[in-house]
Amino acid sequence: MEETAQARRQRLYRLQGIILRRRDLGEADRLLTVFTRDRGKLNLLAKGVRRAASRKAGHIEPFTYTDLLVAKGANLDLVTQAETIEPHRRVREDLWLSSLAYYVVELADAFTQDEDPNALLFDWTLETLRRLDAGTATNLAVRYYELHALDLAGYQPQFFHCVQCNKSLAPEVNFLSLERGGCLCPPHGANVAGTIALPVDVLKVFRYLQRYPWEQIAALQLRPDVLAQVESILARYIVFHLERGLRAPVFVDRLRRAFPEHAPEAQG
Ligand SMILES: [Zn+2]
Repeated sequence: MEETAQARRQRLYRLQGIILRRRDLGEADRLLTVFTRDRGKLNLLAKGVRRAASRKAGHIEPFTYTDLLVAKGANLDLVTQAETIEPHRRVREDLWLSSLAYYVVELADAFTQDEDPNALLFDWTLETLRRLDAGTATNLAVRYYELHALDLAGYQPQFFHCVQCNKSLAPEVNFLSLERGGCLCPPHGANVAGTIALPVDVLKVFRYLQRYPWEQIAALQLRPDVLAQVESILARYIVFHLERGLRAPVFVDRLRRAFPEHAPEAQG
């Protein structure tokens, strides 16, 4: 029995999302993980997209922001049409920027549950991809994203008060506890197993990243060693709270060894 055009229309819906991940399925299909603003993270099936003639293929690449026409399916919904809204072309064509973008979408994936909308995290993710595409202050753009993704996921690290005595932290070496989600003053954090010493300069950067708008962050001129410490401490904090490792940072590290100009020592 042929279905009516109306019945078909009712099974169709349109959505806009960032492609977080794709996995090959069967001969020619792909399973896509798409992050949408209103519906959260969705898994969709794109049939036949690995065939050379597929018109959809170029529109569902990782970290593309794309417009999809989707048909309700019995198990998985199917992508019937795809049209790129923002290709983030520069990111796609640059191996280094791609590796940062993979990390950003991997974090977005890790910090969200299926079909659980997080509009702010969606906005941050899309903004960060745009910043990477602009190609300036890319290391800082990723640090900025990490801190705000943590905040939005409910893991906001406390950098202003001691999490034990609640006193404002003085400008001296304080101590970050991953477990307790924030800083400890010297009497409570020094000589405690598992805490990380935070020099004043490093703590300042964390506070700045947490409080200031991107325009001000992008203009920061940081000492390379400070930037490197901020990066490694944030990475440890994230892995601790996600309770699992991430794949992209390993790739970022490998690229850095191959291309030393991308080390935090070499750029802001
Ligand atoms: Zn204290």
